[in-house]
Amino acid sequence: MVHVSFPYSAPVSQTLFDRAAAVTPGGVNSPVRAFRAVGGTPRFMVSGTGPYLTDADGREYVDLVCSWGPMILGHAHPEVIAAVQEAVARGTSFGTPGEGEVALAEEIVARVGPVEQVRLVSSGTEATMSAIRLARGFTGRAKVIKFAGCYHGHVDALLAAAGSGVATFGLPDTPGVTGAQAGDTIVLPYNDMEAVHEAFHTYPGEIACVITEASPGNMGVVPPRPGFNEGLKSACAKNGALFISDEVMTGFRTSKAGWFGVDGVTPDLMTFGKVMGGGFPAAAFGGRADVMGHLAPVGPVYQAGTLSGNPVATAAGLAQLRLLDDAAYEKVDAVSAELRALVSDALNKEGVAHRLQNASNMFSVFFADREVRNYEDAKAQESFRFTAFFHSMLSQGVYLPPSAFESWFVSTAHDERAIERVAAALPGAARAAAEATNSPEATA
Ligand code: PLP
Repeated sequence: MVHVSFPYSAPVSQTLFDRAAAVTPGGVNSPVRAFRAVGGTPRFMVSGTGPYLTDADGREYVDLVCSWGPMILGHAHPEVIAAVQEAVARGTSFGTPGEGEVALAEEIVARVGPVEQVRLVSSGTEATMSAIRLARGFTGRAKVIKFAGCYHGHVDALLAAAGSGVATFGLPDTPGVTGAQAGDTIVLPYNDMEAVHEAFHTYPGEIACVITEASPGNMGVVPPRPGFNEGLKSACAKNGALFISDEVMTGFRTSKAGWFGVDGVTPDLMTFGKVMGGGFPAAAFGGRADVMGHLAPVGPVYQAGTLSGNPVATAAGLAQLRLLDDAAYEKVDAVSAELRALVSDALNKEGVAHRLQNASNMFSVFFADREVRNYEDAKAQESFRFTAFFHSMLSQGVYLPPSAFESWFVSTAHDERAIERVAAALPGAARAAAEATNSPEATA
């Protein structure tokens, strides 16, 4: 057990958590929210404005999670809210095509060169699941290569050595996924091109696709080594497999065109979510028109959704994307750089070994003394130091992801005042990290 003290209580959140636990497994609708990795009471939030969240006990936090990525303009951006209100007033779902979804698809196609056609869905999980099915249908092959520590949602076939919540809980796998469902998944170490070549050599003509996070953020931020994505692309092309770049997290966040806008490697298929939904459930997969043409109703690969292209979600996503111009990305990148420097300075002052890793404005701190290149490296960090760091920041009004295996996210709304509040909290948190122990007798 990790020794950590919780500097203050959150009685209203605790009452809500108790109520929630009676009717919902673990009291949450997505596992990492339960704070199990760090202990303590999850904060139930009641409102968000700009860079701030307010919890049910009336405490305000600088939010460095941003709903796990989507809120890149901050909370309750007036123009996004206005677009949503306008859409809601016209009705919330029609189950027919509508102009909003065409406009959102056009915006995605215009921004991301390799996307010739796109299909809208409701979650990142649905996007990757559909992209894998399409790759299998297109190639007539079964096997899928994924990388340890990369999370692509809770798709059965992809829940092998996944990151995110699975990394947080150290589950190698999950009950409920059958051998048949995971049996065609080949899990390789991230950033290891040799392993990829070997897999193609071992299974000639059997591999439908390679799926990778464009730049992983679900084992903490672990960018691809120079040439890795390019290597994946050419290995796929050489062996008749499709290259799927999962940009659910990086898409429209790491640049106007996501990670593609950073490394320029052209995938066959791409997946999107988070930012493109403006805080609503909207996601997408897209890519080469000849591959997308295999989808129903044009082709034989079935895929559908009652709420796909929902008018409110598409209005929110479109409003958010239209506000994300070059200046917005410059701002988010600058906020990220400033915070990274502040975090590193504070930890250095306390002599805490750490690595600050970033992929444009996504970043995370590893309590490790060397570069983290893959999941094994990430797991080797001293995550008990993160726990102490996290609780110190929380008690001082800074909301970090409640796990050492997640990216931190910032927004255009993080102004000097918000940054100053983070800066003021850091010395205490760095001290807590320095003093943290991992003694077996201590209890959380
Ligand atoms: N792919 C990546 C890279 C993700 O980070 C996530 C979620 O964090 C997903 C897929 C799944 O998206 P969702 O949670 O919307 O199902």
